[in-house]
Amino acid sequence: MRKVYVHGKARTAWVDSGAQLGELYYAIAKASPKLAFPAGVCPTIGVGGHFSGGGFGMLLRKFGLAADNVIDVKVVDPEGKLQDRKSMGEDYFWAIRGGGGESFGIVVSWKLDLFPVPPTVTVFQIPKSVKDGAIDLLTKWQELAPALPEDLMIRVMAQGQRAMFEALYLGTCTTLLPLMSSRFPELGMNRTHCNEMSWVQSIAFIHLGKRATVKDILNRTSSIHAFGKYKSDYVAQPIGKSVWETIYRDWFTKPGAGVMIMDPYGATISAPDESATPFPHRKGVLYNIQYISFWSADGAAASAAPIKWIRDFYAFMEPYVTKNPRQAYVNYRDLDLGVNEVAAGANVSSYSSGKAWGERYFKGNFERLAAVKAKGDPTDYFRNEQSIPPLPA
Ligand SMILES: Cc1cc2nc3c(=O)[nH]c(=O)nc-3n(C[C@H](O)[C@H](O)[C@H](O)COP(=O)(O)OP(=O)(O)OC[C@H]3O[C@@H](n4cnc5c(N)ncnc54)[C@H](O)[C@@H]3O)c2cc1C
Repeated sequence: MRKVYVHGKARTAWVDSGAQLGELYYAIAKASPKLAFPAGVCPTIGVGGHFSGGGFGMLLRKFGLAADNVIDVKVVDPEGKLQDRKSMGEDYFWAIRGGGGESFGIVVSWKLDLFPVPPTVTVFQIPKSVKDGAIDLLTKWQELAPALPEDLMIRVMAQGQRAMFEALYLGTCTTLLPLMSSRFPELGMNRTHCNEMSWVQSIAFIHLGKRATVKDILNRTSSIHAFGKYKSDYVAQPIGKSVWETIYRDWFTKPGAGVMIMDPYGATISAPDESATPFPHRKGVLYNIQYISFWSADGAAASAAPIKWIRDFYAFMEPYVTKNPRQAYVNYRDLDLGVNEVAAGANVSSYSSGKAWGERYFKGNFERLAAVKAKGDPTDYFRNEQSIPPLPA
């Protein structure tokens, strides 16, 4: 179930849940090179889980989350009935666009709003070492990147003793250069850094490298050959330079050290109210941090140091990120935050145990999600370690 039907004139598409993002992007660009859809960076991400939890990538500042741009769905509800937006009602439709996969039903296909993109976009990737000033650049980037024009997204990957500044600009190098020299001259970006291409080529370029072709994004096998543990945070106040110095000096040098990927918000993703969709990380968020630790062989011996690193580093970061609750992104599922429990004598996941992780992913929207769950799936048929529990009456 992975067909994609693009209606170029209406600027919409229906995509089946089994499709991967690369297949979706490819089909859109084939139908019209002037159209795009804002979703994740990796072409092998599955549409089903990704849209269920929000879904963001290099177009997030221009067009928002994938889930923000879902306009209809076909879903099999807990009673086995096929529903669409009209028949399911707005509460249910609200919940399945960001409330996380495997809680409300099985989404079979999704109707998407597509967006115009220019024929030429520009990508740059500028690595900076700590010796070349990576820490000063990162310190400035935190407030700069969320305030840039919405056509420009600059994210950062920090690892080892360097930071990679990676950008997608919806325009040509000629218009990007004056913008960069006025807003971020310290990065030293010049014409040699510009890679001009179509939007769909930028998907292949950013994830698979310079030599990748557009057809490579159709490959359903991931190019990442590693095991990993993911955690996430949101930052609302810039982190001080001395903290970045400690991170590079003390944390990126430890055994098992992984990577921090930082995606700036601001502009379109930050515009909706916190309750407009289940995804609450909107106004005031400067950027999202994704922490990843990797290991290459199965088993405790290979995973011990990377897992210890990511857990200890997450504990260290607590004072510098959002608080009460410390927010997290549901698509970077983290069972360390808590798992569902079934209270004695009950046969459904308990709402109070779910709050431990649910309020981090959804803030105040967790209660509404649990109320929708109680209405549509009171027996908790769709459940896993972090599925939405039904709110007791
Ligand atoms: C390499 C990599 C890169 C990533 N990059 C990004 C990124 O750039 N941006 C971003 O936002 N996220 C990113 N993610 C996170 C990604 O969005 C989540 O892992 C997402 O859950 C993947 O969905 P899936 O369908 O591939 O996975 P699955 O594990 O199949 O699904 C995740 C959950 O959703 C449920 N589910 C799946 N399909 C459906 C359906 N049709 N109806 C109801 N429930 C369903 C599953 O049961 C499961 O509980 C990345 C993940 C990886 C591994």
